[in-house]
Amino acid sequence: MSKVVKFGGSSLADATQFQKVYEIIKSDQERRYVVPSAPGKRFKDDTKVTDLLYKIFYAKTKNEFHLYFDQMKERFLDIIDGLHLDMSLDDEFQIIQEALENGASEDYIVSRGEYLNGKILANYLDFVFIDAKDVIFIDKDGRYDVKKTDKILSQKLETTPYAVIPGFYGSLNDGSGQIKAFSRGGSDVTGSIVAKNGKVDLYENWTDVSGFLIADPCIVKNPDVIETITYKELRELSYMGASVLHENSVFPVRKEGIPIHVKNTNCPEDPGTLIVESTCHKPAHVITGIAVNKVLRLS
Ligand code: ASP
Repeated sequence: MSKVVKFGGSSLADATQFQKVYEIIKSDQERRYVVPSAPGKRFKDDTKVTDLLYKIFYAKTKNEFHLYFDQMKERFLDIIDGLHLDMSLDDEFQIIQEALENGASEDYIVSRGEYLNGKILANYLDFVFIDAKDVIFIDKDGRYDVKKTDKILSQKLETTPYAVIPGFYGSLNDGSGQIKAFSRGGSDVTGSIVAKNGKVDLYENWTDVSGFLIADPCIVKNPDVIETITYKELRELSYMGASVLHENSVFPVRKEGIPIHVKNTNCPEDPGTLIVESTCHKPAHVITGIAVNKVLRLS
């Protein structure tokens, strides 16, 4: 049995969160491939690293640029210091700054959050770092190139038992080697592609909630968690406005019959929600979940 584990930004927002992630991964040898997002919010009004990177890219003045660039660097240096890692990202920061001066693309810049976080996580776990640009290929419209990716990524994973592969980006499938990002939240998609090509049995998607709730907690008090849901039900809930996984993250694993297990990094013992093709046992509730699409709601 083997597993892919994807961690969202809040699961990797600072050194304390990294320690929780370390415990989760090291407690189960089957957790072999790790897909990190960029560091997310540490508190309510904090800025996600990916959003900082957008600000860096669109900075209008030199001062603005340096302000955001320094904030971005601080986020990573704090994590390295907090974990007492013997590594430096100085060269990486230098490369990014030079790339910006030489007209780097938006996709290149905004993907650096996952890239740098992946470097730190690989060092911390002592896993191999696989740059997503070498194994994940994306067309100009942001769709993953199934044929090219599956061939190269599956070969790479076959010979790499434990690895960190940053989420959210790959390179253009035209052979140019240019970095191309998925749409926002795209690390979910990377996790799914890695799960398919690593031929794993389970895709664990670690986040900051203990699974999907049967109703919106802003409308219904303390709703139950959905323990098991089918891919079809999930699609209906997403369509109705329940914000869950990235919509393109279902297809690669569903086709291979790999379930997705949504788990909470902050409460790893909670059962979470398991997404499967079909359920054979009697469900806990007649209705799996209720969602409302605010755009469709009549006033
Ligand atoms: N960091 C990217 C975002 O904020 C991708 C991801 O987290 O999945 O959208």
